[in-house]
Amino acid sequence: MNDSNSTLANLKNKVDLFLKERDWHQFHDPRTDVMGLSVEVGELMELFLYYKDSHEVVTEKREQVEDELADVFYWVLCFANTTGIDLAQAMEKKMQKNALKYPVEKAKGSRKKYTDL
Ligand SMILES: [Mg+2]
Repeated sequence: MNDSNSTLANLKNKVDLFLKERDWHQFHDPRTDVMGLSVEVGELMELFLYYKDSHEVVTEKREQVEDELADVFYWVLCFANTTGIDLAQAMEKKMQKNALKYPVEKAKGSRKKYTDL
């Protein structure tokens, strides 16, 4: 399984089955899932602590970065499953909002926040 041959539905089902087999759904609610997400984002960030060259970190700690990124995504999928949020729909809607906030003619090549464009 890789990005080219998997779908969000596959991945959401995989996480759901993982929880079901362990009878762990009882431990999941939106608060727990978002806290798990926050913890894993922290673990991912920790890999970059004290390094100036973040590309170097990704190269040197590739497997750890992949593991922590997967942990982050696991909690995103748990949260989506727990809340019934359709991730693809939510992403599509948000990207449309972002496109309005960051029109190409104003935002291209700029690092400014939309409020400062
Ligand atoms: Mg982790």
